[in-house]
Amino acid sequence: MDAVDVVVVGAGPNGLAAAVTMARAGLRVRVYERADTPGGGARTAELTLPGYLHDVCSAVHPMALASEFFRRFRLSSRIELLRPELAYGHPLDGGRAGLAYQSLDETARALGVDGPAWKRLFEPLVSHWRELAQFTGTSLLRVPRHPQLAAQFGARAFEQGSPLWSLRFESDIAPALLSGVQAHSILPLPGLAPAAAGLLLGTYAHGVGWPVPVGGSQSIILALVDDLLAHGGEVVTSTEVTSLDELPPARAVLLDLTPKALLALAGERIPRGYARSLTRFRYGNAVAKLDLALSDAVPWAHEELRRAGTVHVGGTHAQIARSEAMVASGKHAPKPYVLVAQPSVVDPSRAPEGKHVLWAYTHVPAGSDVDQSEVIISQIERFAPGFRDTILATSGRTAVEEEQGNPNYVGGDISAGAATFGQLLRRPTLSPYPWQTPVRGVYLCSSSTPPGPGVHGLGGWHAARRALAVEFGIRRAPDLRPGA
Ligand SMILES: Cc1cc2nc3c(=O)[nH]c(=O)nc-3n(C[C@H](O)[C@H](O)[C@H](O)COP(=O)(O)OP(=O)(O)OC[C@H]3O[C@@H](n4cnc5c(N)ncnc54)[C@H](O)[C@@H]3O)c2cc1C
Repeated sequence: MDAVDVVVVGAGPNGLAAAVTMARAGLRVRVYERADTPGGGARTAELTLPGYLHDVCSAVHPMALASEFFRRFRLSSRIELLRPELAYGHPLDGGRAGLAYQSLDETARALGVDGPAWKRLFEPLVSHWRELAQFTGTSLLRVPRHPQLAAQFGARAFEQGSPLWSLRFESDIAPALLSGVQAHSILPLPGLAPAAAGLLLGTYAHGVGWPVPVGGSQSIILALVDDLLAHGGEVVTSTEVTSLDELPPARAVLLDLTPKALLALAGERIPRGYARSLTRFRYGNAVAKLDLALSDAVPWAHEELRRAGTVHVGGTHAQIARSEAMVASGKHAPKPYVLVAQPSVVDPSRAPEGKHVLWAYTHVPAGSDVDQSEVIISQIERFAPGFRDTILATSGRTAVEEEQGNPNYVGGDISAGAATFGQLLRRPTLSPYPWQTPVRGVYLCSSSTPPGPGVHGLGGWHAARRALAVEFGIRRAPDLRPGA
């Protein structure tokens, strides 16, 4: 195999972000990917019927707008990202719902009695969303550039992650609306890490919106691959790497993989102490997914939800906390939290005219092989009577199948490592440069490194910046703008 300057293993958003950054620095870059197509957690396919485009993994992309990498890359000028006015909604029994609009004022108005409290919670964060994205977009061991904002964020996370979570609210709608976002973390509620995740994603909803890309999440990947190829890079698909020894000679190897995979690929080359810390890295609970082709939009009892990009299903804060606690104790919840996206409501190109695709997943214990399709359908039907009659076709995936599709999702953990507070600091080890490993020239760049899960490319960007500095003496950040 010809030598290159840089090898990247894994063509997920982080691997490709790393590859683009290295190629933009003038280096020869080759990416190896085990799947037939690049994309990892950002692929789109006809999973049910011809003409119905489903996002296989990620569907909704606030981080594609907020991340420093994608802002430098000018992603929003390369692809079309459509932002629903109603970023996310949360149905409750009896036809009621919480509604989070991109407009903070409209959200506060819709929340009624709790509107002012919601506004006080989010306003300081929303007005500084860029600085917040900068603070949360790297290793939390770095000294924050905006200490006052970091303190405001931290204080709110402590409040929402503690038994004080309900004190500022009077009705059950605002707490449910917040729990729906916190539950993205797949952790028991209340807790510090879910509260921080909820505040960050909630801030993005009002700051940049929760967009979906026209044509599906794959559009983000196509933009990255196009840029990589235009700068001399290569992507080799259908090639699973099982040992570092299989790779061509290169001065830097960036792995868009988990610590578990690093241990397997590097074997004896890894110093014992570092190997022990990688072994201590914990993978979290999992998801079971369901994609549906529908003859019509979901008939939500609360009609406004028909306009939402995302809907959090699962009921009140107490009901969601109970179902998440069951998953944390290794059980399947009979009425679980279900994360639903309605991409075709925002981007009609995803389905034939008048028809729809629906994207949903629920939380299950790690390693679950239980098909959750019926449970997911029943939970949606609970808040959208008649939903079942709109279903044309379904395609389900268990947690075990998630891992078979992509080994980064160990046991079906789509975060590639539990996103607990401890593991947000120690991801995967306690270091200001956690992307760099003690094996010369070898870096981790996946979502098992800071800032963790999501399609933001930041793990790749930080790992590449570190490798450029250490291996090539290049300290200046490459220009990522189109045409540069
Ligand atoms: C069902 C689901 C829903 C999600 N929803 C959202 C969402 O709406 N919004 C959001 O921002 N994020 C979402 N995520 C999370 C997001 O997709 C991931 O955090 C993100 O893709 C991580 O990017 P990555 O590059 O680190 O890893 P990945 O995207 O997992 O890419 C890793 C790549 O490495 C390849 N690979 C693995 N092992 C090898 C090997 N040995 N040799 C060669 N190649 C290998 C894999 O095939 C894969 O292509 C979701 C994930 C899932 C699974």
